[in-house]
Amino acid sequence: MDCLFCKIAQETVPASIIYKDDEFVVFKDINPKAPIHILIIPKKHIVSINHLEAEDESLIGKMFLTAKKIAKKLEVAEKGYKLVFNVGRGGGQIIDHLHLHLLAGWKNSTERNIPGMP
Ligand code: AMP
Ligand code: ZN
Repeated sequence: MDCLFCKIAQETVPASIIYKDDEFVVFKDINPKAPIHILIIPKKHIVSINHLEAEDESLIGKMFLTAKKIAKKLEVAEKGYKLVFNVGRGGGQIIDHLHLHLLAGWKNSTERNIPGMP
């Protein structure tokens, strides 16, 4: 399957990987939209939140626990961060392999500004 994030998960395409385990790979976004911009992906190829099945219930739960662990590791847990799933083209999804954005590191709320969001 010709999927960039599968290749990153299999480490056949390079990425700045900061964490990996049996189910997930975590790496720096190549075009960061925040001072800290990390992507958390499952090794399993799932296109998007729209494509989750009942059998993925535990995987999606663990994905959030991985995000929590990474936030702590990057020392942004206390100050705060955003977790974002873009779903489908209308939701801004470009890469069709499930990924959770972890965004953090702003100095103030103005710098953090995303239109329509506090
Ligand atoms: P999305 O718009 O939710 O599909 O997000 C895809 C994200 O993947 C974007 O923020 C891109 O900057 C990022 N991205 C694309 N290619 C790479 C890559 N080779 N390594 C790391 N991040 C990437
Ligand atoms: Zn994939």
